[in-house]
Amino acid sequence: MKKNIHEIINVANNIYDKGLVSGKAGNISARFKGENGDIIGITPTLKSLANLDEEHIVLVDIDGNVLTKGKPSSEVNMHLEIYKKRPDVNGIVHTHSPYATGFAFSNKRIRRLEGFGEIKNPYLPDIEYEKPGTDELAVKASEGLKSGDVLVLKNHGVICISENLKEAESLAVFVEESAKTQFITYMLNSVEDSI
Ligand SMILES: [Zn+2]
Repeated sequence: MKKNIHEIINVANNIYDKGLVSGKAGNISARFKGENGDIIGITPTLKSLANLDEEHIVLVDIDGNVLTKGKPSSEVNMHLEIYKKRPDVNGIVHTHSPYATGFAFSNKRIRRLEGFGEIKNPYLPDIEYEKPGTDELAVKASEGLKSGDVLVLKNHGVICISENLKEAESLAVFVEESAKTQFITYMLNSVEDSI
């Protein structure tokens, strides 16, 4: 259990350092086996992901009962709904990373570039805006992730899921890089060649 909690802290630090989350935004979780069923370790509400300690990670069961002290992220239901629909998923990273979120606020979609998994759909799927922290968002997001591993939340951010938290982190980094590359391409294509 300690190892799992340390991995959550480590990934939270990494994505903060890489600029994928800032302020108190973003939340991540991992699922692991407890004595009486699955346990989900999730980052707390209203706390930066930059400086988390062991005591800050909140443990909940699959029904959302809080097993430790502290208050889980306001998006805990979204994480739980995804885990319920995807038994193969054990790590979730939700960010408002700037390039990907810029696309989420625009009418442009993010292409899935070569370099991370199979390309079934050339564009990352998205869902329409629902207020953060609501059951509506939890339901729509989990529906949107019934298959696939990335979902863009319009006017909000991105969710990446994988069989473990480290992979979900790598995917979140890749999605942000993809959005950045496309942004640069759009910019370069929009200026006249001055040579
Ligand atoms: Zn969010």
